[in-house]
Amino acid sequence: MSNEVRVRFAPSPTGPFHIGGARSALFNYLLAKHTGGTFVVRIEDTDQKRSTRESEENIKDALKWLGINWDEGIDVGGPNGPYRQMERLDLYKKYTDQLLAEGKAYYCFCTPEELEAEKEAQMAQGETPVYSGKCANLAPETVQQYLAEGRPYVIRVKTPKNETLEFDDLVRGHVSFDSNKVGDFVIVKSDGIPVYNYCVVLDDALMHITHVVRAEEHLSNTPRQLVLYHAFGFPVPTFAHVSLILGKDKKKMSKRHGATSVQQYRDLGYLPAAIDNFLALLGWTPDSDQEIFTMEELCQQFSLDRVAKNPAVFDIEKLNWINFHYMKELDEDQLLELCLPHLQQAGYAAAQPSAEDLQWLKHLCAAMREHVQYGAQIVDAVKV
Ligand code: GLU
Repeated sequence: MSNEVRVRFAPSPTGPFHIGGARSALFNYLLAKHTGGTFVVRIEDTDQKRSTRESEENIKDALKWLGINWDEGIDVGGPNGPYRQMERLDLYKKYTDQLLAEGKAYYCFCTPEELEAEKEAQMAQGETPVYSGKCANLAPETVQQYLAEGRPYVIRVKTPKNETLEFDDLVRGHVSFDSNKVGDFVIVKSDGIPVYNYCVVLDDALMHITHVVRAEEHLSNTPRQLVLYHAFGFPVPTFAHVSLILGKDKKKMSKRHGATSVQQYRDLGYLPAAIDNFLALLGWTPDSDQEIFTMEELCQQFSLDRVAKNPAVFDIEKLNWINFHYMKELDEDQLLELCLPHLQQAGYAAAQPSAEDLQWLKHLCAAMREHVQYGAQIVDAVKV
């Protein structure tokens, strides 16, 4: 194998594209560009109830708007496709059959009621609820009989007992988990669809991903993924779990803090270069006090060893300041283009302005530019 860095962004297309997702995509992109590696984008759509094509389109549009282009993956293709998980089910099945044949995974016929009772009993003893492993001991004939009867089942992987599951995270340092607290977990649900923790390992391994850079919320999934890497004998990639983005009140960034999706910032009249610049600084610290970075500079300077462990705080004033900086680079026509939809929405400009009107609006925007940090602010600026 070559030493090429291969990274990926693997969004679930289940709703608006959150700025946290955009930051993960950007960090992966920057790492690939910095090292001359490959950036892969694939879609994790096994949550069929919540996944939509509309959301996938929205994510792709947002990535393109931000200039976060990928080398391999959905739309562009590549040698390791398909790049949508629901199109990879046959492949996953092949690997599940292999685990079953090797005795590393097993059918579990426990009913939800049995599992619930087991869980309650463990919790009553003050223990972490973990599957007892009961079905691991079913005789092969019994398994065949239950299957023939058409009993519903899930497939579980065997997690080794009394082991420490550990790795060195490039952001969080050494991380370890007790395998007894992980237990034999479900890899294929009763509807035959494999779970995220399973697909992600097969995808990352088969797509030769070398570095998994993703949000901290996935840290607790990593021990399960390690169990699967070991079961298959795949090399374990290097992990980097990037800290959460918090609001100014130090609570997890949510709708209460204002706009949270890339689309909302786009609609408010922010510029993609400013969003990239701002997102890069949400966790990554440059080695100087420079604050304005072009994408090219980010690609040159970005490295994971300067990604902080402590949470990043989303400071809207800083974003506005950065955006204001990039707006200064717009000529009068570009400025008008950014501001016009907001003037129209507020009723200050006609839906189809005449050439004369446009000329006047252009002068108006130019005269007001010192008061406008992002497109939508033009409305307040012209009011006063
Ligand atoms: N599909 C996951 C998400 O959108 C990504 C998981 C991963 O990067 O491993 O959060």
